[in-house]
Amino acid sequence: MASLVGAAVVAAVLLVAAGVVVGVAVPWRIPVPPRTAQLAALARLPAEQVARGRALAAELRPLRYAGLLVELVAVLVLGLTPLAARLVTAIGDAVGAGRLVTAVLGGLAVVAIVELVGLPFAARRRAVLRRYGLITQGWAGWAVDLGRGAVLGIVFVGAALAGFFAATGAWPHAWWAPVAGAAAILTLLLSMVFPVLVEPLFNRFTPMPDSPLRDDLLALAAADRVRVRAVLVADASRRGSAVNAYVSGLGPTRRIVVFDTLLSAAPDAETRLVVAHELGHARHHDVPLAAGLGALGAACGCCLLHLFGAWHAPFALAGATGLADPRAVGLLVALLTVAQLVLGPVGNLVSRRVEARADRHALRTTGDPATFAAMQGRLALRNLADVDPGRVAQTLFGSHPSTVQRLAAADEFTADR
Ligand SMILES: [Zn+2]
Repeated sequence: MASLVGAAVVAAVLLVAAGVVVGVAVPWRIPVPPRTAQLAALARLPAEQVARGRALAAELRPLRYAGLLVELVAVLVLGLTPLAARLVTAIGDAVGAGRLVTAVLGGLAVVAIVELVGLPFAARRRAVLRRYGLITQGWAGWAVDLGRGAVLGIVFVGAALAGFFAATGAWPHAWWAPVAGAAAILTLLLSMVFPVLVEPLFNRFTPMPDSPLRDDLLALAAADRVRVRAVLVADASRRGSAVNAYVSGLGPTRRIVVFDTLLSAAPDAETRLVVAHELGHARHHDVPLAAGLGALGAACGCCLLHLFGAWHAPFALAGATGLADPRAVGLLVALLTVAQLVLGPVGNLVSRRVEARADRHALRTTGDPATFAAMQGRLALRNLADVDPGRVAQTLFGSHPSTVQRLAAADEFTADR
């Protein structure tokens, strides 16, 4: 009982802390441009481009919703019936493994089933993107990427399961405190290490050769007082035509990465603007902000999970005795999936505000709203973006302001000068 009170108190403190960070560090005061300004921006875009982006979005949307729904149903059926428990028991018996190994293998099997159920929808989405020419990579290349992703998933999910079940086995009532601490620290560490360790698995990076553009990008970074270790070019063209750039890493690992597709498709002034936007993220510490919120969320989640463990009904449904029981792993995966679905739109809400601030930063540091607008138009055209998605799609999935919102923000910047 004491451990439940402790977990509840810590969860409440962490929630308040997350609320304060969200309230203070997220730029809520940057307004979303009024709808009339958005419609004015929309009217300036080529009608054919707008229609093509809409058509693509309309084809992708049902696949996306159906894929999410099917994964959700699969995970709930596995987690809220004894199905996953039976699977875990069968795997444990077959391998003759102890509690910990059974939990890890069983958990990986549950996750693999959910991923496999969603795979046909991902493949259909990909086929649509290929038909529109957005993806040029063949199916074999995709399979290789999937394989790499699977290996990565097995390592990360396996390690998380092993840590969780080792802790719940060692400290049945107090596990939440060390696990919450470890989850927070790991979230922070991974956000630092991830770009350096994982990005090279999917792309090749080469230093950008000396050029006026490279000098320009470094000058922008210096003006922002953002220390950058390297300017790299990623070979994104072997996958498709999508263009992008980003600044990744913290402190000593920080680098500017530009897609080779951007370099070949856009004038240098636009590449400069994309990078200025990314430097806005670095300048306002958006990566540590996201990592900090993630760490608070992960720690809070552990405390809430301990409280959930005191509720017997769902465990009875799942055919398990409690959180420490390997047979509860299906229920655990279901809980995490539902939490992810609920928190996704919250994260996107924060993300859109942070992205609007980075746009504003790019407009200020380059003083070039005309190129900003041209770049937004080109990005949308190249990526066949839906420039004005509906309110529901934007609320659920929009990590950035829509193209028309970004164009309207550039209009406002011009008008204010
Ligand atoms: Zn951004």
